[in-house]
Amino acid sequence: MIVVSKIDELKNQIYDWKKQGKTIGFCPTMGSLHQGHMDLVQTSKSKTDKTIVSIFINPTQFNDPKDFEKYPVNTENDLLLCEKNGADMVFLPDVKTMYPETKTPIQISIPKLQEHLCGRTRPGHFEGVLQIVTKLFHLTEPSKAFFGLKDYQQFRVISAMVENLNFPLEVVGVPTRRETDGLAMSSRNVRLSPKERETASLIPRMFALAKKTILSGEKDIKLWKEILRDFLLTGSSLRIDYLEVVDPIDLQPKDKLEGQVLLAVAVFVGEVRLIDNQTIEIPS
Ligand code: AMP
Repeated sequence: MIVVSKIDELKNQIYDWKKQGKTIGFCPTMGSLHQGHMDLVQTSKSKTDKTIVSIFINPTQFNDPKDFEKYPVNTENDLLLCEKNGADMVFLPDVKTMYPETKTPIQISIPKLQEHLCGRTRPGHFEGVLQIVTKLFHLTEPSKAFFGLKDYQQFRVISAMVENLNFPLEVVGVPTRRETDGLAMSSRNVRLSPKERETASLIPRMFALAKKTILSGEKDIKLWKEILRDFLLTGSSLRIDYLEVVDPIDLQPKDKLEGQVLLAVAVFVGEVRLIDNQTIEIPS
């Protein structure tokens, strides 16, 4: 496995691979890797010739400086995992490499897709994501790029950018990898105390309840959300950042329970912000 931190080294290797006619799969990450990230790597390996993983904690996507400072770093283990899973190259740039001084900062956004969910409660987040992802796409020249559906809004926003701006690549969504109790794997989970980890298991249990109430005929969206909110909040110290029901394509709030809906939540457990979502088919 090749590990590079400079743009020239990255581009030279990509030039060689392209000359040999190899296709490139790209998995952008912020490190502290777990099996969820490795699912992206495995999917990329099954669909492309060479897999590149980037590890870069992107400062421009953190609206909360404390969250940025506390973001876990575990590079040694990350490289071991990437190697074990057969990644061909890891790109590990530093902040200066990705953001040399510039007097004319650029901003990309897709307002409609960013109006709700994390776009509403984390102002500037998706502008930062689209900025770094665009730069990394141009540097790695992938034919396919892999993103987790855990970050569903991110997946939609990036897919829409690629489509609207004619980026020459395909965005592939990878299902959420979960712990045995159903909690979505996240780099942030290591920051949970044992008590907080227990509280976090309310999230998958809330999704189970959501499906159960739909199957037993719940049709009132307001009532449904109230039941789910109550379930999360009763007797727990968890704080809800948002709990929303939106259309899975345009991410606009649904006012009726019909067709496919995306139930998405963001909660704070202690200081740790966790997100998760499920697409649910409402029986007619
Ligand atoms: P991050 O390092 O958190 O920025 O995530 C990097 C990529 O891995 C993103 O595309 C995430 O959606 C994806 N990812 C993170 N956690 C999971 C998970 N539990 N299952 C699948 N993909 C994930």
